[in-house]
Amino acid sequence: MIFKQIALGPMQNFSYILGDERAKEAVVVDAGWEIDNLIRVADKEKLEIRKIILTHSHYDHVQKADELASKTNSTIYFHEDDCNEIKKTIRNPSIKIHKLKNNDEIKIGNVQIKVIHTPGHTPGAICLLAKNKLLTGDTLFVNAIGRTDLPGGNSVKLFESLQKLKKLSDNIEVYPGHDYGEVPFSTIGGEKKTNPYFMCETKEQFLNYLKS
Ligand SMILES: [Zn+2]
Repeated sequence: MIFKQIALGPMQNFSYILGDERAKEAVVVDAGWEIDNLIRVADKEKLEIRKIILTHSHYDHVQKADELASKTNSTIYFHEDDCNEIKKTIRNPSIKIHKLKNNDEIKIGNVQIKVIHTPGHTPGAICLLAKNKLLTGDTLFVNAIGRTDLPGGNSVKLFESLQKLKKLSDNIEVYPGHDYGEVPFSTIGGEKKTNPYFMCETKEQFLNYLKS
């Protein structure tokens, strides 16, 4: 699997390219900014962008998906619970969309990407697991978590989503949707040791910590 983490735009957003070197095809995860840079990175790896997956509906992750899909003739994938918000940003009616559910799998060549529904930051927020890499969008950051005070946010749901992620092996690598940490990626095991939100064991602890 070819894997690229690319920092773009004024909000330290990360987009990702996951590609299969044999099929020469790629998926882009999140498309908020500077899509020409994404196309350039894919070109350099001799990959054709075929699919775009959006981790959630916020504009800094989705606003260029429409344009990237038009330029590359890609299908846009996102969770059904963020559909209404994301659809507002897709202006070109001929673009193909695909609504996702928990546990769905997306294939690009021989690369399998598993969808884990992790509501809380938004209702339809998802994490994506490809081999040993977990792309966490704005659900889990290095030593932090996504906000729950924006429209559609829900702190209890985010707590429950984090418990789902804690069940993954400690060696799974965590790749967030923003470069907010001291380092750009981490592991589930590392977050269990240092991320104060991820360390909360009960809902009450978590909600209290959010208030503090
Ligand atoms: Zn967000």
